[in-house]
Amino acid sequence: MTMLEINGLVASHGLLEAVRQVSITLKKGETLALVGANGAGKTTLMRTLAGAHPVKAGTIRVGGDDVTGLKSHERVRRGIALVPEGRKMFASMTVAENLALGSMAGRAGDWSVERILEIFPNLQKRLHSKTGHLSGGEQQATAIGRALMSNPDILLLDEVSLGLSPLIVDRVYASLDALIKSGTTIILVEQNLERAMAVAGRVACMLEGRIVLEGPSASLTREQVTDAYFGLGRVAAKGALS
Ligand code: ATP
Repeated sequence: MTMLEINGLVASHGLLEAVRQVSITLKKGETLALVGANGAGKTTLMRTLAGAHPVKAGTIRVGGDDVTGLKSHERVRRGIALVPEGRKMFASMTVAENLALGSMAGRAGDWSVERILEIFPNLQKRLHSKTGHLSGGEQQATAIGRALMSNPDILLLDEVSLGLSPLIVDRVYASLDALIKSGTTIILVEQNLERAMAVAGRVACMLEGRIVLEGPSASLTREQVTDAYFGLGRVAAKGALS
C-alpha cells in the first residue's frame, strides 16, 4: 500500500528554491534515508512535508489523500509527525508533559507512555524533569517519544543523531529498529552514510534541492552515493565521507 506520495514538490526561502521538483513514493513500512551535503535542502523538504514550511508547487498525498493544503497540526492528525533538527523541545515542560502534548493529536493507536519507556528506558527516572535539564540523548528520546505519541503512520526524523555521543546514537538507532518492524513509514535525514544505508531500505540523495539518486540501499554502492552527494566524479569523492 502506498503511504506517502510526493509529486513535483517545490519549496523556497525567498527567491532560493531549496526543494526543486522532488517526487518520492513510499510504501507502508518503508524506511528512506535522505542524505546530502549541508544546504542540499533536506531540512526544508522535511519541514515542508510536515506543514512547517509552505509548499510552492506540487502535491503531498498520505494514504491517497491530498494533504498539501493542510496546516501542520492537521497533518499530525493525518499521521505525519516530525522530529525536527535540533529537537525543538519546550524546555520548561517535563518529559511527561511533552509526551502528553504528542498524544493531543487524538489519533488512535498503540503508543503509550509505557511503550515509549520500553524503548527509551533512560526516560523512566526523568519523567518529571524539565526537558531543559536533560542530556542531549534524553532530549532526543523525548522528542522522538513525543512524535510517536501522536501514533504516526509517517515519522520524519531530521538528524536525530546530531550532537549525541556514539553510544546514545546506537541506542536511538536500536529503538528505530523496533519502529521499522512495527510498520511505521520513516524518512530519516542522516549525515553518517554507513548508518543511513544500514538502517534504511532505501536511500535518496539530495543535491541543490533535487533528488539526484534514489534506490534500494542494497543495490547502491557507497561510491555511487558519495558521487551523487558531492555532484563530483568518483575520484574526488572517494574517502571524503565518514
Ligand atoms: P543542513 O544539513 O545544513 O541542515 P539541509 O540539507 O537540511 O542542510 P536546508 O537547511 O534545507 O538544507 O537548506 C537548503 C537551502 O535553503 C540552503 O541554501 C540554505 O542556505 C537555505 N535556507 C535554509 N533555511 C533558510 C532560511 N530560514 N532562510 C533563508 N534560506 C534558508
